[in-house]
Amino acid sequence: MTQARHTPASLPSSESELDRRSVRARTERMTTTALGDALYEVATERDERYLVDLDARRCSCPDHAFRDVRCKHLRRVAIEITEGRLAPPGRLPADCAVCGEELFVPEEAVDEPHYCEDHALEPGAFVRDRETGDRLLVVHVSDRRADHVGIGKSAYSVATYPTNRSYDPADRVVGAVYPQSVSMTDSGPAPDSLRVYSFPRSRLERLSEPA
Ligand SMILES: [Zn+2]
Ligand SMILES: [Zn+2]
Repeated sequence: MTQARHTPASLPSSESELDRRSVRARTERMTTTALGDALYEVATERDERYLVDLDARRCSCPDHAFRDVRCKHLRRVAIEITEGRLAPPGRLPADCAVCGEELFVPEEAVDEPHYCEDHALEPGAFVRDRETGDRLLVVHVSDRRADHVGIGKSAYSVATYPTNRSYDPADRVVGAVYPQSVSMTDSGPAPDSLRVYSFPRSRLERLSEPA
């Protein structure tokens, strides 16, 4: 036996009201912005701005505050995240440093350069040097900034080296070789007898096919 339960007056009283809320959450014009820390700003058509805290499931709108319902702003934030248009909690939007495609990156790393799938480099990727047009093979992708890595015994860093000065000093350093005599092994390219050159990452343009 199930017992009938009283519905609190503050909750939507019918299925149809719930449906109307869902429709409004999906169709009304709202602009959502990820602020970090699971906080989102929602701007409505009438330029009202509300703060949604997804962790606490709270919204600053009167509907939420006084009626204790899951308002259309909270729903809209959840929909936009589910459909991939808004950064989930813990992430913020950032542009690919090469093509500008929007990516959702860990919020603590938002100020670092980011790269989309097409422009990420990994050992074994073939690249073109934008300065010389040479084709190279990537053997190492580091987390170190170009202005923090020295070149041999010279006074230059990768960032201050004359042909690298037009690139972002915060670029990560990539090690690459001229691949004429690289042999491929099961564990990837084997360039040990070759000299590895250090480049700021955006100086190297990924080639889609090994030429
Ligand atoms: Zn709200
Ligand atoms: Zn890209």
